Amino acid sequence: MSNNKYKILLIEDEQNIQSLIEAILTTNGYQVVLSENCQTGMRLFSSHQPDLVILDLGLPDMDGLEFLKFARQEHTTPILVLSARTNEIDKVTSLDMGANDYVTKPFGTAELLARVRAALRTSRQNSAAQIPGAKFVLQDLTIDYDKRIVSVSGEDIHLTQTEFNILAFLSEHAGKVLTYSTIIRSIWGATDSGSIKKLQVNMANIRKKCGTKPGDNRYIINELGVGYRMRTDDELI
Ligand code: CA
Repeated sequence: MSNNKYKILLIEDEQNIQSLIEAILTTNGYQVVLSENCQTGMRLFSSHQPDLVILDLGLPDMDGLEFLKFARQEHTTPILVLSARTNEIDKVTSLDMGANDYVTKPFGTAELLARVRAALRTSRQNSAAQIPGAKFVLQDLTIDYDKRIVSVSGEDIHLTQTEFNILAFLSEHAGKVLTYSTIIRSIWGATDSGSIKKLQVNMANIRKKCGTKPGDNRYIINELGVGYRMRTDDELI
């Protein structure tokens, strides 16, 4: 047994879900540390320094968002929010407070593992766009950050500066849902709500130029009411 397993802190109060996730993770070679409430979770986070946290929002002692606030004071550890709530506000709030991604209950084993892998990868990759000559490749889509060229199946496509910046920003965070306000802040440095419309128009143009139809999530997934997520190559569909 290897001793360099990823250590995952699971904060979840529902016994059956806790046992299910623990079983899925240990079966797949992860080491799991368990907590049933927010305060113990904070203590274990400090003492164990896990590689990833899976966090339920509805905890008996405090709102799971309190854990997020606590962890993000000093740490960039990836945090995957797990919640029965399908409320978009909760998703947006947790992402804006620093969560890397969310999984809505009920979830499948494959989906959970794909999100775990993506979150761990996000923390490993030092922004590829900063490395000279770095390229992003997803299926038949290639982004050359230096030359600012995007191609699909070897054919260059012509994007505006803004469209390129949006696509590059999403690709740098592939696998992670980026909220509308996060993208808008990064591209326009503004937070006015009118920018959401502007972002949607740009996204529609990017899709069209990449040859994907509305509703076709080949490269970018539209997380309705939340934001956008660039796919990763190893993602299960
Ligand atoms: Ca709960």
